[in-house]
Amino acid sequence: MDRFGHFIDGEPRPGSAWRPVYEPASGEVYAEVADGSEHDALLAVQAAEAAFPAWSGLTTSERSRWLERLADALEQRREVFAATESRDTGKPLALARDIEIPRAIANLRFFAHAATQFASESHHGEAGLNYTLRQPLGVVAAISPWNLPLYLFTWKIAPALAAGNTVVGKPSEITPATATMLGELAAEIGLPRGVLNIVHGTGPAVGEPLVLHPAVKAVSFTGSTSVGRRIAGQAAPHLKKVSLELGGKNATLVFANSDWRSHLDTLLRSAFQNAGQICLCGSRLLVQQAIYDEFRTALLERVHDLKAGPLDDPGTRLGALVSQAHFDKVLACIARARFEGGRVLAGGHALERPGWYIAPTVIEGLGPEATTNREEIFGPAVTLQPFTDEAHALALANAGDYGLAATVWTRDLDRAHRLAAQLRAGIVWINTWMTRDLRTPFGGTGASGLGREGGLEAMRFFTEPKNVCVALR
Ligand code: NAD
Repeated sequence: MDRFGHFIDGEPRPGSAWRPVYEPASGEVYAEVADGSEHDALLAVQAAEAAFPAWSGLTTSERSRWLERLADALEQRREVFAATESRDTGKPLALARDIEIPRAIANLRFFAHAATQFASESHHGEAGLNYTLRQPLGVVAAISPWNLPLYLFTWKIAPALAAGNTVVGKPSEITPATATMLGELAAEIGLPRGVLNIVHGTGPAVGEPLVLHPAVKAVSFTGSTSVGRRIAGQAAPHLKKVSLELGGKNATLVFANSDWRSHLDTLLRSAFQNAGQICLCGSRLLVQQAIYDEFRTALLERVHDLKAGPLDDPGTRLGALVSQAHFDKVLACIARARFEGGRVLAGGHALERPGWYIAPTVIEGLGPEATTNREEIFGPAVTLQPFTDEAHALALANAGDYGLAATVWTRDLDRAHRLAAQLRAGIVWINTWMTRDLRTPFGGTGASGLGREGGLEAMRFFTEPKNVCVALR
């Protein structure tokens, strides 16, 4: 059985205790992961502290080359990383192979370039010459979730390293495989010891000690809103920088004058990709009354095409839920939707097969006040709500506490731009979904988080600005 150990100070370290890792597509244990402790977290922080002076002292192009080497090594192993990610998470292989592992490689390369392009400001003509130094923070923690494991892990560690920090990463204990393999690649390319450390374990046992450790200068966290709130509370007394990428309850607005028929594929993906376990999925479909019946019929037809099957079968469009606990949670949300008066038009039940599969579920008949439309489900379950006009659509979209992403489908560009400005969301897509330019700010507002990742926003987060003022006589 595979065992996923820590990677501390440039070396693999076994756990002193182990916890099971499940294969979601079968529900069986297939590996074990180190069940880390505060002690492991402290060792990793010490290693990162020791590595910081030399790493931060490299030139930006030297650090950039290390990230490129890591990207090259990952690219050479992309097939095995994709197969491992698919097995560990229960997602179709095609998703890991065609989207997520390529994106992890792109993250490393993107921030390798960002390191060499990052500039700071100077101000002249008011009070001498002022220039801004952007200096690395020191040791930073990167805590990531299970839904897009390597994709999100590299999205954090790449800018942190590029900016000159040393890192302690804590991947989700539910999906530890590819982060462990990334540690092996770091050792293989000879990344200096202690620059990147990976500690496995639960949030309370490993994540919290990292958040509380005085030598950890910043915490970059992606995960649930409840844990994000807790981290914010724990980091505040230490006046630590935090970046919080949290949950979402995103709205998809489909107007009657849109080309919705020719984009049904994207609309379907935006609702059900990765079995709905993407923070950016549109879980509330708002559809203009004039096309509501027609849209519903077309959607329901397509939903039935989302078939489960062997993960490596190219025809498999539906993967598993990541864990028994998450499977139970999503089924409980569907039961609550029924209790609230929702009509289940498709799915609404587990699939009769091994593993944690739930049929793609479409629910109608619930308004914006229903808990089903307010709380994140994070599974293959969406609601349909009709709207009359633009103002009604906007009111429905902005109902609730989250504010991560929204998608607008319309041919009316004036309307699209008007709505983009008024939607309460960190990201608005118009006639597309999840199209990403890594230079753009990424993140949410309200219960969806605090701060922005991506591009220079990430480089700014992982550096401290210092004003230097020179008298000019
Ligand atoms: P989670 O909050 O349970 O766990 C995320 C990570 O935090 C894990 O590594 C976990 O071990 C760790 N953790 C848990 N408790 C902790 C604590 N007290 N202190 C420090 N670390 C702790 O989230 P999850 O279930 O793994 O992921 C799903 C959630 O992530 C969803 O809510 C989803 O919307 C969100 N998400 C958000 C984004 C985004 O970019 N906004 C992206 C992906 C996922």
